[in-house]
Amino acid sequence: MSTLKAVRGTRDLLPPETALWNRIEATARRVFERYNFGEIRTPVFEDTALFARGVGEETDIVSKEMYTWEDRARAASEKTQSLTLRPENTAGVVRAYIEHKLGETGQLQKLYYIGPQFRRERPQKGRYRQFSQIGAEVIGPPSAGSESPLRDAEVLEMLATLLDELGITGWTLHLNSVGSSADRARYNEVLRAALADVAPKMCGDCQRRAVTNPLRVLDCKVPEDQPIIEALPKIDSVLGEDSKAHFAAVLAALDTAGVPYERNLRLVRGLDYYTRTTFEFTHGGLGAQNALLGGGRYDGLSEAIGGPKAPGIGFAMGEDRLVLTLQAIEEAKAVKGDAYIAPLGESMNPAALKLARELRREGLKVELGDGSFRLKKSFEAADKVARRIVILGEDELASGILTVKEFASGTQTKVPRAELVDVLSK
Ligand code: AMP
Repeated sequence: MSTLKAVRGTRDLLPPETALWNRIEATARRVFERYNFGEIRTPVFEDTALFARGVGEETDIVSKEMYTWEDRARAASEKTQSLTLRPENTAGVVRAYIEHKLGETGQLQKLYYIGPQFRRERPQKGRYRQFSQIGAEVIGPPSAGSESPLRDAEVLEMLATLLDELGITGWTLHLNSVGSSADRARYNEVLRAALADVAPKMCGDCQRRAVTNPLRVLDCKVPEDQPIIEALPKIDSVLGEDSKAHFAAVLAALDTAGVPYERNLRLVRGLDYYTRTTFEFTHGGLGAQNALLGGGRYDGLSEAIGGPKAPGIGFAMGEDRLVLTLQAIEEAKAVKGDAYIAPLGESMNPAALKLARELRREGLKVELGDGSFRLKKSFEAADKVARRIVILGEDELASGILTVKEFASGTQTKVPRAELVDVLSK
């Protein structure tokens, strides 16, 4: 008899790895609690119509990735029903919000979940058919302030805090606004018109999307299509005044709170229900599947599945990817030093020794390069022995602001000397 194995795209999690999963979940619960979120647990399968209406018929998830079956009737009085293993949890949470009339409390509902999701995707590193998401939603009637840009900013600030507490350094927050549903509809038409001429030169997926859901063309990763996509009209050009003001208020709150972000005009996200703010956190250490988490605002979702007006914002983090990222960080920490100091030119050697001395006296593991090395050679040498390279040239010495590159994530930042020890010890 052939031996039976776990189904393709599914995995067993064994100790000691399960300890890391537990630590991630405990940290998430602790942080969510501090922000006054409560846990919700919804069923693992739902009526197929929930996802068709809530996520969108034209999305990849609904059109080709769902595990759907006709549930047999057990008695003559029962009807067969189309059921689906949940591919994501936001639709289920909003269904529960409607079913239990949570909006009638008049309060903002702040709910988080942790659990398995199912999508029939092509398995690869960081992409599985059963995977776990940690997510949260802030939803409620407009009178409870659910539309306020402060809610968007607070969720993003919470995510930055959670990633920091998990010990995930070097993430990037990509932020965009896809506008109201009217703005989106207008943008879809602008794109449809712009794509009419160029779509035949694009990949098969784009040709199909150019007709069914032009916005999704912006998600295409095929290299040959990129110049065409870059030349398409940008979403900014169609955003209404309300959407612009909302987004500006989100950015202003993030700036004041000190949460760094990058504007990404192409970030439209795969699910149809998003409106206004959309975001993604990525990490360079993950390879091709580099999204740690994604989310956004979904002001019309409740109505789309038959509920009252209940604007909301939420996100889902891929727990499998958090684990992969933390494993890569821990591995690098175990074998590599904290920093490699690269003096730019031999005249910088004495200052580099001084900096190395100061950092080592703070307990950091530091390797010292040599000013006679070309920068490329320094980078190669540094990547072998340290997690980060610190570049020390005339400018850095004069300004006291150093250039630090983290190899795992590929991010390069300017760090004031006073903050260097903190940054390098992470
Ligand atoms: P989405 O629900 O598509 O917005 O995905 C949110 C997050 O879930 C992504 O950023 C990933 O981290 C994670 N994720 C989505 N699909 C998968 C998958 N097939 N395997 C592992 N993680 C996934």
